[in-house]
Amino acid sequence: MNNILDFTSKMLGIQGLEVIHTNVNSGTYTVFAKPTHIGAICPKCGRFTNVIHDVRVQCYGHLSIWGTKTELVLQIFRLECSCDPDHPFDLTCNFIRKYQRQTIPYEIYVYELCRNNSIENVSKLTNLSHGKCQRIFNHYAQLEIANRGPIKTEYLGIDDFAVRKGHKYNTAINDLTTNSLIDIIEGRTKDEVIAYINDLPDDFKRQIKAVSMDMSRSYCSSIIEALPNAKPVIDRFHIAQLFHNLIDDARKHIQNKVRKEEGDKTKVFGIRWALLKNFEDLTAEEIEKLFKICDEYPKLGECLAIKEEFRKFFAINTKENAAAFLDYFKELVMDSGIPELQTFCKTVDSWREYILNYYDFKITNGPTEGLNHKIKNIKRRAYGYRNTTNFKIRLQAECVS
Ligand SMILES: [Zn+2]
Repeated sequence: MNNILDFTSKMLGIQGLEVIHTNVNSGTYTVFAKPTHIGAICPKCGRFTNVIHDVRVQCYGHLSIWGTKTELVLQIFRLECSCDPDHPFDLTCNFIRKYQRQTIPYEIYVYELCRNNSIENVSKLTNLSHGKCQRIFNHYAQLEIANRGPIKTEYLGIDDFAVRKGHKYNTAINDLTTNSLIDIIEGRTKDEVIAYINDLPDDFKRQIKAVSMDMSRSYCSSIIEALPNAKPVIDRFHIAQLFHNLIDDARKHIQNKVRKEEGDKTKVFGIRWALLKNFEDLTAEEIEKLFKICDEYPKLGECLAIKEEFRKFFAINTKENAAAFLDYFKELVMDSGIPELQTFCKTVDSWREYILNYYDFKITNGPTEGLNHKIKNIKRRAYGYRNTTNFKIRLQAECVS
């Protein structure tokens, strides 16, 4: 065999091909080749045949060889069998998918590019159409997702994310064991979530022991209804977040009152962060400022003390102690007469059982928050992801640990 043909054959990296001729023309390396073995099993009768009916050539995009764009001009044989000589069949190649005009190694290259780039960019890089890049990505991503096998986790996280802020929300279902996205539900209502869960395999539904979530009635009641073995667990991050928001509301309330009564804004202005930060993270200067203001406005001081007190909650390790703490804390807040904190306690009361479930499973949606961040990035990168199916495949392919 001629050296160039031998070299090309090795560089192609495809088994079962014989290179017959090569040509470089205006920056494209064209490789003419044919299959080494001509013969196949007849799809109708199952017998072997190597009777050639006819031959044509077809051009396929392939991986570049040493930086030179490469195309493969391949002889496509049609074989006929004695059982039905009038209906020949194609001799297929295992490195080309049906109806595709590029080789599988090249498609995998395109897929890898798509994983870390927008389809838009890959289309520009490869000169393939946007639609073609998207279809290649979807095909290999779906293969990969299907190959992941059954999900073994006992713990799920459920959380919503904005598709269009204030308009459209979807729901992410996450595997808290591997910290990866399982699926996206379009919408976030109880009916939408239940319909989704009902379609899941029974084995999977049975194995779920707990689901972490924020204080959302629709998620909570759909889990209770559709996953009978699973307990809702209120995510601690969301409790802390709610508490902080209400502390800040209380601060604004007190601040406005002071402003109205005395007209002195400077005293309470600028202590927002001082009040929301953990006490030990404050600078000496901030502490001094905070104490001075708290001296003058005892309600703020009380707010600060209650805030610091509640932090103890997150250090508690047993359900029993946590339950006792919540009772104690409620009394503390009721005595303070700060309406925002009373609202907090009422909310905690109505979610008490599910907040305390934490101690049976110790799961949080922390990982889910990370995934939501990933989702946001993908959304930003793939600006113009109007097609939900494409978006969903992209999320499932990329949001894995
Ligand atoms: Zn046959």
